[in-house]
Parts: sequence; structure tokens; C-alpha cells
Amino acid sequence: MDQEIAPWASPAARARIAEVAAGLTDLSPGGVLATVETALHEHARQFDDEGIVLYAGTNVLGPAARRVSEPLVSGRPSMGWPGEKYQAGLDHFDTLEVLAPTLVARVMGARFAEVRSHSATLANLAVYTALTEPGDTIAVLPERAGGHTSHHAVGAPGVRGLRVADLPYDADAYDVDLAALPGFLAHERPKVVVIGASMMLFPHRVDAIKEAVAAAGAVLVYDASHLAGLVAAGRFQRPLAEGADVLTFSTYKSFGGPPGGAIATDDPALAERISAAVFPGLTANYDAGRLAPLAVTAAEILADGGAYADRCMAGARTLAAALHDEGLTVAGADRGFTASHHVAVDVSGLGGGRAAMARLAEAGIYLSAIGLPRQRPGEPDRGLRIGTQEVTRRGLDTGDLRQVAAWMADVLLRGADPGAVRKAAAELRARRS
Ligand SMILES: *Cc1c(COP(=O)(O)O)cnc(C)c1O
Repeated sequence: MDQEIAPWASPAARARIAEVAAGLTDLSPGGVLATVETALHEHARQFDDEGIVLYAGTNVLGPAARRVSEPLVSGRPSMGWPGEKYQAGLDHFDTLEVLAPTLVARVMGARFAEVRSHSATLANLAVYTALTEPGDTIAVLPERAGGHTSHHAVGAPGVRGLRVADLPYDADAYDVDLAALPGFLAHERPKVVVIGASMMLFPHRVDAIKEAVAAAGAVLVYDASHLAGLVAAGRFQRPLAEGADVLTFSTYKSFGGPPGGAIATDDPALAERISAAVFPGLTANYDAGRLAPLAVTAAEILADGGAYADRCMAGARTLAAALHDEGLTVAGADRGFTASHHVAVDVSGLGGGRAAMARLAEAGIYLSAIGLPRQRPGEPDRGLRIGTQEVTRRGLDTGDLRQVAAWMADVLLRGADPGAVRKAAAELRARRS
């Protein structure tokens, strides 16, 4: 092929891309159809049907949300508010455009919800766009504390031309260093402070953080991308009620809806500025196809009284305790391991997070590496991050989770054959779909 994908990528990536490209010989419509059908079929078998998916940043739609997912709707741009749209003939979309933000705001305990961002990354960019000017400073959690790419200069803040300062962090508290915070804010003078991370074992002390942030004249944003399903259920914490000015989140992780981002706030002035940043600022066609499954998912969360969130959190405690009993080093041991649906395992003595992730993948157990609060800046990820939101939805029970913990320890500590574990894992999944 004359085309290239990423000649600037790492040697490992270039080797894999070349391997895949070498197999793509038939680019006729029929050949491409056969190729993509095989890829999708094999992916569904490996990951959806046979995999133990412990990756924290994903989930599966419920059956009702899946039923109302309609690809044709995604390609119908609907620009502007109902009653003043740029396009004609989209009267029935008005229903979705009122229903989805109403339900998302209600489930988050907020007055306003903006649901047109295609992702939480773009939701964060919309918030930065609304609340900062290029050259301003924002303060965010360091990467080892789970600060996300969309909080750091390499991501959305860099796109907005912002300076990014790492918040002082207290690794023992798994939270912002409250004693150091006022001095830090006085020195750095951020316009926006972002808390909420890609791994959240314990809640932030939002009220105390808010007090310091408000005194410094900044806006407090809580990125609940991973926690949204718990927050929506009234579990873990209620960031807006506790003092955050703005809540951003992904709608497809613990929330369990379609891919997308959302922004909630109680403040009408902030809501108006953020809304203008989303449209016409950062979107044209915002993908109305997301609204129906999003509305259905939010209504189900409201009706379920927190039962799903409770099962996710109980599953995390079960898994953490079982991994600990099996001999792995589970973070947060002195505090009951976790107060969310996340579990973190320190595998720095087992070759680090990336190596452990690869070994578990051979066994059909899928998750990701993550930095841990105690690691040094620049040190490769020490940890493995687990989220229970998908296995909970798939119906894995306490006994199943203990079995999964035993398999993980077999592979990571006891040299078990990953192929044998993978077969047993697929058998477990055949019983729990
Ligand atoms: C996953 C994540 C995001 C990005 O979400 P997308 O919807 O995939 O863009 C943003 N912030 C945090 C903290 C995340 O964990």
C-alpha cells in the first residue's frame, strides 16, 4: 500500500500496523465488507461474549437503550433550539432534545444539563472555552492521581492555549492537599480548578476544596466521567450539592448510556456560556442519535433507586478483598480498599501495569494500567485499574468475582497458563451474559 497510518508512532505500534496492513489485500466493496464483518464478529466473540471486561472506562447499553439506538438519526443534523432550528422537518427531534437534558439534569440533581457534546473530552473543552481565555491558568489533578488527558496541557487545555498547573496532592488522603491548597491558589491564580479523576477510590472533600477555590475567585469543575452512574444514583458523592460549580461527565462509563459527554450546573449564567461554547462553538451535527438511548438510560437510573450502583460498589469491595486475600497488593487497604466501583492493584513488583495488563489480556481478562498516587513523576504506571460496572451489568455474582480474582492471581503470581484461564473465563461468560 502507498498509504501510511502513523510512521511517527512507536516501534511496537508500527509493527502491529504493518502486520494488519499486510492482511488487507482486497479493498473492493465486497472484500471490505467481508473484512469488516469478520473483524466485528471476532471482536464481539472475544470481547463482548467471552471476555471478562474489567476496563473501567466502558459499559454496555441496557436492552431498552439498545432498542432505541438508531444510526439513521445520527446523520440528521439538528442545529439550534427547538423552535428556531436551522433545518426544517425535525419536529419530532424536539421531543428528544427536551427530554434528554431534562432527565440528565434531574438524575444529576442539577438545574441545567447540556448533552450535545460528543464526548467528555469535548465537554471539558467547552467548559474551558466558556470560562477561560488563552493564556489563563487552570489547576488540575496530577496524572498519577488520575488527572485525565483532557485536563492536561497535552489535551484540551492545550488546544485552548491554557497554562496547566498540578494541584497539590495528598497521596495518603487520595485527595487534594487541603493545607497546601490556599497558598497554591494564591500563587498560581487559576481561573478554573478541575477535580474528579480517571480513578476515584474515595470521594473528594468537595466542600473544603470549594471554600478555598471560591476564596481565590476560581470556578470549581468536577469531572465525574467515571463516577456519573454512582453520582446519578445518589451514591459516592453529590458534587454539585457539595459545592462544585460545574459537573462534566462521560455518558457511557458507569452511567451506562451511549457514548457522549454531558455538562450539568445549577448556575444559569454558567449554563448559558457553556451552552454557547458547545453550540455553535464546538459542534454542528451533535449526533441526535445519542439522545434517545441517553434519555432511556437516565430514566432507568431514576427508577432503579440506586440498586445498580450499589451492586457495582459491592462488587468492587468483593473483588478488592478477594485480590488482597489472593496475595496481590490492593490500594486503599487501610480504608476498606474502595468507596466506589473502582479497584486499584499495585503491580510495580510484577513488571508494572502495562506488563500485567498484557498477561491478563492473554487470559481474556481486559483492563488497563494506571498511575498510582505514590509513584514518582515519569515512572511507568504502577497500577492496574478495575471497574465493576460492566461485569455487574453482565450479572457476575459474588462467587464469580472471587473466581475472577483467583484467576488474576493465578496468572500474575502463580504462573498459570493464560490459555487455560481464558477457556474457563469464556465458560463463565457463557453462563452470565
Ligand atoms: C474517560 C474520561 C474522560 C473522557 O471521556 P470521553 O467521553 O471518552 O472523551 C474525561 N475525563 C475523565 C476524568 C475521564 O476518565
